[in-house]
Amino acid sequence: LFAAEAEKFAQLPDVDKIIKLSSNENPHGPSPMARKQMMEAVNGSNRYPWDVTTKLREEIAALTGHTKEHIVMGAGSSELLGLVAVWAALKKGNAVAPDPTFRLWMPAARKTGLDIKLVPLTDKKMTDLQRMKEAMNDQTKLVYICNPNNPTGTVLPAKELEAFIKDIAPKAIILLDEAYTEFSSEPSMAHLVNDYPNLVIAKTFSKIYGMAGARVGYALAHPTTIKQLNELQPWANAGASAVSLAGALAALKDKTFIDFCKKENALARSIFCKALDKAGIPYIPSETSFIYFDTSNFGKDVKAMLEAKGIVGARTFEEGTKWLRISVGTQDEMKKAAAALLS
Ligand code: PLP
Repeated sequence: LFAAEAEKFAQLPDVDKIIKLSSNENPHGPSPMARKQMMEAVNGSNRYPWDVTTKLREEIAALTGHTKEHIVMGAGSSELLGLVAVWAALKKGNAVAPDPTFRLWMPAARKTGLDIKLVPLTDKKMTDLQRMKEAMNDQTKLVYICNPNNPTGTVLPAKELEAFIKDIAPKAIILLDEAYTEFSSEPSMAHLVNDYPNLVIAKTFSKIYGMAGARVGYALAHPTTIKQLNELQPWANAGASAVSLAGALAALKDKTFIDFCKKENALARSIFCKALDKAGIPYIPSETSFIYFDTSNFGKDVKAMLEAKGIVGARTFEEGTKWLRISVGTQDEMKKAAAALLS
């Protein structure tokens, strides 16, 4: 898609560089420390990287007060979302998920037999926990929650989410996708995994750590659950390359870079939000690396306006509406996006 888009935009006379605001990638990463370790790890790529995998699992676990037996590694968190969906499908039944949300795991879930019930968000675009509960029945094997939710950016308060988990986890697997938690003021639910073997938390190095192309993700769950997920992997924990794992290990420790990314993301985000305010376009206050806004009363085609300036990625996730999601790039990129919007 991007190859085709890049070709299209290369034709425009006043555009020398495409700005990609499509997949909520971190425009700053990987961290300098991660880059250095990745380059060095190239030389050791003839060996399987078990030592690095184990170290990474230990380091991740230590951050949340767990053990490496609580961690399963994957090639990006999407591998693990799919794995959990298949694990749930083996139990035969249905899944409940908000709509819209991150859907990448759904085709595999459906193919393996899970019937997915989609529950609309509230009118404030919040995940509707009450309606999700009501949509469940005794055949519900999986409940998916993305917090903060993609594409809306809405965040469930920790108290509400924790109460939901305590209520539901005894009955069904809860797959909690925390891809953007590091950008948010609400905490991770990692402290609950020991009490609820049905709770699986998916995390990624693709967002705040700036390593989407390196493909490293993990899931955190009770060791009995991790064992079952490992059995569904052809080779447990072996999805990511030696180079990517070395980068992830370094990235995890580079606090300065993580803080920088969080701050830069907030500044860049506010540049575009101010432009939305100026244009009178309502949006969801965001604690993520993307912004969800409603262009239905704007009267102009924002996607086309941005594309005319070589800015790609604004798109809709709710058919029949004019809500768009745009990823947050650098401050400079968001200034260009803001200018395009107000042009
Ligand atoms: N979960 C959410 C909510 C996402 O937005 C994404 C990517 O955009 C992913 C998971 C997948 O990330 P990855 O497979 O790169 O770890």
